[in-house]
Amino acid sequence: MDRLTKVYVELSTACNFDCVMCVRRTWKDEALAPMEWEVYRSLIEQLAEFPEPPTVHFSGYGEPMTHPRFLEAVELAKGIGARVEMTSNGSLLDRETAAALIDLDVDKIMVSVDGVSADVYEDVRQGSDFGRLVANLLELRRLKLSRFGRGNHKPHLGLAFVAMKRNIDQLPLLPQLAHRLGAEEIKVSNVVPYCPQLEQEMLYDRAMYALAFRASPDIPVMSLPKMNLDAVTAPALAQVFDSTVSISWLQSSLDHYTNYCEFNQKGYLVVRRDGVVTPCLELMRDHPVYLKGKPQWISHYPVGDVTQKTLREIWEDEEYAAFRDKVRRFPYSPCLTCGGCELFEANQEDCRSNTFPVCGRCPWAQGLVQCP
Ligand code: SF4
Ligand code: SF4
Ligand code: SF4
Repeated sequence: MDRLTKVYVELSTACNFDCVMCVRRTWKDEALAPMEWEVYRSLIEQLAEFPEPPTVHFSGYGEPMTHPRFLEAVELAKGIGARVEMTSNGSLLDRETAAALIDLDVDKIMVSVDGVSADVYEDVRQGSDFGRLVANLLELRRLKLSRFGRGNHKPHLGLAFVAMKRNIDQLPLLPQLAHRLGAEEIKVSNVVPYCPQLEQEMLYDRAMYALAFRASPDIPVMSLPKMNLDAVTAPALAQVFDSTVSISWLQSSLDHYTNYCEFNQKGYLVVRRDGVVTPCLELMRDHPVYLKGKPQWISHYPVGDVTQKTLREIWEDEEYAAFRDKVRRFPYSPCLTCGGCELFEANQEDCRSNTFPVCGRCPWAQGLVQCP
């Protein structure tokens, strides 16, 4: 049996922001509320049953710090010896909360920063205040410095950036902000086009098809060394990336994240606010996607419910284990690059006789969308 290594826990579906790229904008009847305490407490007891407790990562679609018992939730997870991480918009990370997270020895906080100037950031993250975010993160840094001195100390800080046409010019300024805030990591993802406007914001309409990111006996490989990436080389390299070769950079093929589902390769799953378990973020809830100018409908795929069975029983269920194994083999039709028939309109079946849920149209499995 493969090992469960990380559990994404959706502590709340409530949020104090209304970001332009958030899937919550497509929800109609979903309750915007915290996870019930009894559900969470039972989940932690279930995680303690694993020989090695998986990492608990507070994430999902909602701001975890809006949970009224957020710090208690962190304490419970830490109490079973789990590594604890979270993805947050950072707005509620005030001095008191930051000090408590340091005391609780939280391992990592990924904070969403989709711009380095107030106008761009607040345009993407509606309802936000860039000045307050920066002040919160500087205070976290100051508290860590005064507690531990210089160096990289917990909670490690990462910045998460969703790249779109409207904010890509901010990317080169992000390293400077990361240095200032003491962030150790910057994770850039593409946007998932939940509406036609977001399809216009996409920066991967050519990357979806590019042979540069594929390896096959039918495609020659171009192996690149270290070289300047500047006004002299950039046009030539851009053409190479759009050409008919597979790229290997410093002997590392760029094919790695092609037909590769990180959730199933690395042993992750998601527990929704209501206790329903799904294999990944993409399959958490029904939602639309707009690609190639057409709407498609992604249906969610529940593999259990922690209020009905233990997470260990769910993880060891034969059908779910067989699904994970299948996704790791990835026998699906290449729907994302093809999109050529009506089966593309949903994740129900594909032309290689795979049945629901089919993953050949998933942007996460093609290295286009990255988990924080
Ligand atoms: S902060 Fe996260 S959950 Fe809240 S609206 Fe933005 S993307 Fe959605
Ligand atoms: S199922 Fe349709 S969209 Fe997917 S690869 Fe086959 S022909 Fe293309
Ligand atoms: S390939 Fe995509 S849809 Fe399929 S399990 Fe992985 S993340 Fe979920």
